[in-house]
Formats: sequence, structure tokens, C-alpha cells
Amino acid sequence: MPTVLRVAVPVPLPQLFDYLPPVDVDAAALIPGCRVLVPFGRTRRVGVLLEIARESNVPSHRLKPALMLLDAQPLLDAELLCSLMWAARYYQYPLGAVLECALPIGLRQAKPLPAAGERALALTETGAAASPAGKPTARTNLLLQILAQGPRTYPELDNALPGWRAAATSLRKRDLIVGITLTTRARPHMPMIGPPLNVEQQHAVDEIDAAHGRFAPFVLEGVTGSGKTEVYLALIEQALARGQQALILVPEIGLTPQILRRFRERLPCAVHALHSGLSDGERTRTWLAAARGEAQVILGTRSAIFTPLPRAGLIVIDEEHDASYKQQEGFRYHARDFALVRARSLNVSVVLGSATPSLETLANVETGRYRCLPLRERAGAARMPIPRIVDLRGQRLQHGLSTELIRAIRDCIGRGEQALVFKNRRGYAPVLLCHGCGWTATCTRCNKPLTLHRRENRLRCHHCGADRPVPIACPECQGTQLQTQGQGTEKLEDMLIELFPHVAVVRIDRETTRRKDSLEQLFAQLTPDQPGILIGTQMLAKGHDLPNLTLVAIVGVDEGLFSHDFRAGERMGQLVVQVAGRAGRARKPGTVWLQTHHPEHPLLLTLLRRGYRELAAQILDERRGAGFPPHTHLALLRADASSLAPLQEFLDRATTLASTADKNLQALGPMPAPMPRRAGRERAQLLLLADQRSTLQTFLPAWLNQLRALPEAKRVRWSLDVDPVDL
Ligand code: ADP
Ligand code: ZN
Ligand code: ZN
Repeated sequence: MPTVLRVAVPVPLPQLFDYLPPVDVDAAALIPGCRVLVPFGRTRRVGVLLEIARESNVPSHRLKPALMLLDAQPLLDAELLCSLMWAARYYQYPLGAVLECALPIGLRQAKPLPAAGERALALTETGAAASPAGKPTARTNLLLQILAQGPRTYPELDNALPGWRAAATSLRKRDLIVGITLTTRARPHMPMIGPPLNVEQQHAVDEIDAAHGRFAPFVLEGVTGSGKTEVYLALIEQALARGQQALILVPEIGLTPQILRRFRERLPCAVHALHSGLSDGERTRTWLAAARGEAQVILGTRSAIFTPLPRAGLIVIDEEHDASYKQQEGFRYHARDFALVRARSLNVSVVLGSATPSLETLANVETGRYRCLPLRERAGAARMPIPRIVDLRGQRLQHGLSTELIRAIRDCIGRGEQALVFKNRRGYAPVLLCHGCGWTATCTRCNKPLTLHRRENRLRCHHCGADRPVPIACPECQGTQLQTQGQGTEKLEDMLIELFPHVAVVRIDRETTRRKDSLEQLFAQLTPDQPGILIGTQMLAKGHDLPNLTLVAIVGVDEGLFSHDFRAGERMGQLVVQVAGRAGRARKPGTVWLQTHHPEHPLLLTLLRRGYRELAAQILDERRGAGFPPHTHLALLRADASSLAPLQEFLDRATTLASTADKNLQALGPMPAPMPRRAGRERAQLLLLADQRSTLQTFLPAWLNQLRALPEAKRVRWSLDVDPVDL
């Protein structure tokens, strides 16, 4: 009887592939979960061995041997493999590609595993002998001083010296320091003691702890600043005391050095970060340390949900409503939903924390599937900020700000406090217009206005990334009266600098935070007890504790009130509450100013008068009436092509196949995508809707097979999104 290896290969095909064992490999060494290098067409791929079978449907003379067994131990344990298989089925994505996604990049290649241990820096002999040159406060000198006391790991350096990476590069070039791997475990340090928990915090900790050892989902619903992080820390300590691992997920922009530092100060063990800002090597090492059970606390963004946890004790999803948990391309999983699947198979508690839980989560609380633990009060002395509406109708505005608001900012500065101006639009202005003839700078590939970025003097398309110089004259009429319309963060920054020339004004958006460590450095420009102004996009909505910040101005809510997306109201509510939560975090009370042309909008009124929970209840009701999630379940077929005809043909065929399939299934469309054209391609979509998840789940695999076989499918680019977030 031949042995046949069934291998998941990272290719866009749903089936497994059969191979013979590699020559001269012992049968006992072939364990599911190990990686194998296999020939695939004319290339070689790293696949994952899933099963060892007795026979194959492929005729034996056509079976090829795998080239190499890459691991002595399974890299993916049974739990992770099983959860990922579930995800491949649920999200209708090829298993080989799902497994590839779950592995850190360093393990997707047929290379030996990196040495166990942590990346660190140490002085070279030259470095040890060198006497300091240049300014004593220069980062390079500070780094040399730190390393003079012994080697330091990257996480330790993150804590000790923001911006050390640039300094390290220059010192390495001069041969003063080297990168090493520290194999000894991080020395245990004396953690700082946190504040005593208040009654509600303690209650939450007790309830969650009482459930340990089995699957139990909790929602920790606490306004910003109510002390959710303290609850997480207490739960992590309990997991550590039981010798277990804890995985904490935070939104992409939430994993700031500040939160890492707080975890590192407070926990008695190493805290491992996992996010896209790290090198492939660092991520691989952390992943492997977790797989060995050595990394006890892992703090990461979305894809950290694929971390192996052989000794799992707790999973926390902070800001569970955050949109960055949904992967928007390729394998379109939702990390929060997948966390529940993992927690179930690991038999651990999962804590979903938020001031503004998603409606999906609230619906699960309503049906009793999740337990809600509220934190109603702000921790310590902090109070919730007081909301104020600024009715913009008929008012004179200065670059989009009302006189009333400018006066309030002036008063705030006068008291020596700090203000935050929130505008969810980066760049200088979203429109550049010719006053002579009405021409507008437009992206021809997306049919949308280009945003003016004045600092770099470029016109950019925020949809496809197109980038071009700003014309000196109008290309239509040669007139030179080009003017801007609307305002982005750059324009607001200019105006506020002009109004408050003696105050630190800091802008935080994608442009100013491109470099590593830059977010931290920007925040450092605000001295805690000095007046200052922060301007920024939603990057500002979370993560930072600014005790002297007492005024928050939201200057663009209206965009969220009128949108085609059925989630717009929910998002508006979450954003307002989150941004407002930046104010008055310490002893000083805060105020939130909302500028709007629609002061009587029912959603806005409900939010301000009765709070987020009431808003959520109102929207849930509306969605029930309209038949939208969470009361129904969706899958979205998206397609794009260079012209409309093939797109239409493909989606028409797909619609016909779907509408005859199951009476419980509704096919809405085909219809143009919210952006019908992007990067030069036409886009359209078909929405499938069912009352029961199972209706969709039964239908989708067969339908996808039919779609793959359509000749029309070859002429378009298409993808399926199960539980889409953006429609
Ligand atoms: P959240 O995660 O809900 O935004 P945090 O845990 O960050 O809230 O707490 C907000 C602030 O309140 C932090 O400065 C924290 O140290 C402080 N804090 C939290 N819990 C307590 C407590 N029980 N007593 C005093 N201060 C607390
Ligand atoms: Zn013109
Ligand atoms: Zn474009």
C-alpha cells in the first residue's frame, strides 16, 4: 500500500493535492501540521501536510514525490489547524491560501527555522572602547550609553528609547554595535502595581475568572477611560498565575508604544508585540515562541489571531467594534469572529471590550449568547465629557470652524489646557477647482476628485493612490485662479497655527505618521501641563491618554449621517463616542463640540440625549425592519473588469444561478459598486442575503464551483466576501 500525502498548497484552488512522501523520509516523521516543499506545475511551493492517506484519485504514475519535509515537529497544532479549516470553509477561501495567511512570512519559505531567542543589540569591541562623540543627548549616544550596561532586546529598547532604530542603523554602519540573539529568557522584573480595582471592575474580573477552563464569551462594555485595560491586566495576571498564555488583540492604530509600555511595566513577564511594523524575522520568532508555549503574553493586531496558543488561558479583543479587525482583501476573515471560534476550540474565555460594541455583538448579548459586564463609571476621578452641538446653519465659518468653536478653543488654551480637532479627511483640501471655468482636478481612473496635498504640492487620489503634480494653470481655460474647496487636516493645521501662533499645534494623520515611532514623537511634542492643539483623522480616536486634553471638536459628523452604507449610523455613533472619549480623561472635566448642519437628525439626537446604547437599539430596530444584519446574513460577490460588458455577463450568470437555488436565499443585484470605477476598472457586485447562516453556508460552495467553471469568470476579477463589512 503506498502512502499518499494530502497537502494544502497555497494556490487559488479549493482542493488538497496528493503527493508521495519525499524519498528517504521515515514514515513516522510525517505528521499532519508539518510543512512540506512540493513541486507544483513548474514551481515549488511550501504546503502543509494535512492527512496521510492510503490511496489517491490521481493515477499512481502521475503522483509526484514531495521534495522535502521541512519540520520535525508540526508547526500548526491540531487546534489551530482545525480552526483554520473551519475558517476556510466558512469564508469560502482555499485552505492552502488560508494556512499560508496564518503563517508569518518567514515560515512561508523553505528556510530553516530561525534560532529561538529574542533579537537584541550589543556593543562591539570598538563600541565598548569608543568614547562618546557629538552631543550627549543625541540618540546615538543615548543608545550607546544604554548598551554599555549590557545587551538589550528590541522590546526593551522600544521602552527605553523611542526612535532607537534609526540610531541603531547609523551605529551599525560605524561598527559600534551588532545585532545578536539572546537565548536566555527575559529576566523577570518587578512589575508595577496597578490601582485597586473598583467594584464594577472587580465584579467583571471575578465573573470572567469564575468561567476559566471553558469557553465563555463576555462583553466588557465600558466607556473610554472606565478602566477596561485594568480588567484585562488583572485577567492576564490570573492566566499567568495558572501558567497559561494570553492573547490580546488591539485595532491596527491602537497598538501604540504607549499601550505596549503599560503592559510591559505591569506584567511580570515579557510582552510580545505582533504587528505589521515589525520585521518578518521578529514576527516569526514571536510566533514560534508562542507555538512553543514560551511567549506568555502576545499583544497584536488583526493577524495575531493566528498565533498558536498551546497553553491558552484567555483571549481579549479590545475595541471589538473596530473595522480594522476585518481583513478587506484576499482571505477576508473577521478577527473578532474568528477569535470566538478559537476560544471555543481552546476552551477559554474571550473578552470583547468596547465603549461602543458592534451591533452584531449587542445582538448576541440580547439573545443571551454573550454575557455583558458593564463598567458604567469612569475610573478614578475622571468624568464623562459634556456634549455641545454647534448648529452651523447660516453661520459664518473660518475654514470650516464656527466662531463659537474658535472662541471655545481660545478659552481652553487660555486655561493652559489642550484641544483636539477631529476631521476625518487628510490632505489640504478634497477639491481643487478652477474659478474661471469650473474645471475640477479629477482622477480619471476613479472619476473622483483628487485631494490637494499642499505640503508636498501633489494631487492625490485617495482611492487608487494616483499621484501627480499640481497644475499651475487650469488645463481647460489656462486661467490661474485655482482654488480649493472644503478642508482637510493640513488646512486646519495652517489655520490653527495662524490663530494660535504661540501654542504647539500637532497634526496626526497618515502623512505625518509614516515613519516608525513617529506617532510617539508627535505626541511627545505636547507637554502634558502646557496648552496645545491636536488635529487629526481617526488615528486620534483611541490609544492615547492625554490628561490635559479637555476640549474635543468633531468638525465632520455630517458625512456619516447620509451615506448609502447601512452601517453608517452605527459608525457615526462609535466614532463620536470614541473621539469624545479623548476628553477629560483625568481630573479636569471635558467638553465635546459637534459641528453639524443637521442638529435635528434623529440619530444624532438619540446619541447625544440618550447615549450609544439607545442609538444602537434604535438602529437594530431599523435593521430588523429592513432585513439587514445582524438579523440576516450576507455574502457579497464583487467583480471588476476593464470594461462593463464582461462584468455584466459574469454577474448576470451568477445572479441566475443564485436566484433559482433556494427560496430562502435572496439575490440583490447585480448593481454598481459604491465606487463604480476605481483605478481604471469598472466595478459591480451581487449581494446575497439569507435569514439563516446555514442557508448561505450550504449554498455557497456549490455556487462557487459553478462560478469557477463559467467562461465569463476568466474575463473578470472576482471575489466573495462572507459577512462583508463595507457594502
Ligand atoms: P479604558 O481601557 O477603559 O480606556 P483604562 O484602563 O486605560 O481605561 O483606564 C483609564 C485610566 O484610569 C488609566 O489612567 C488608569 O490607570 C486609570 N484607572 C483604571 N482603573 C482605575 C481604578 N480602579 N482606580 C484608579 N484609577 C484607575
Ligand atoms: Zn478653468
Ligand atoms: Zn483614483
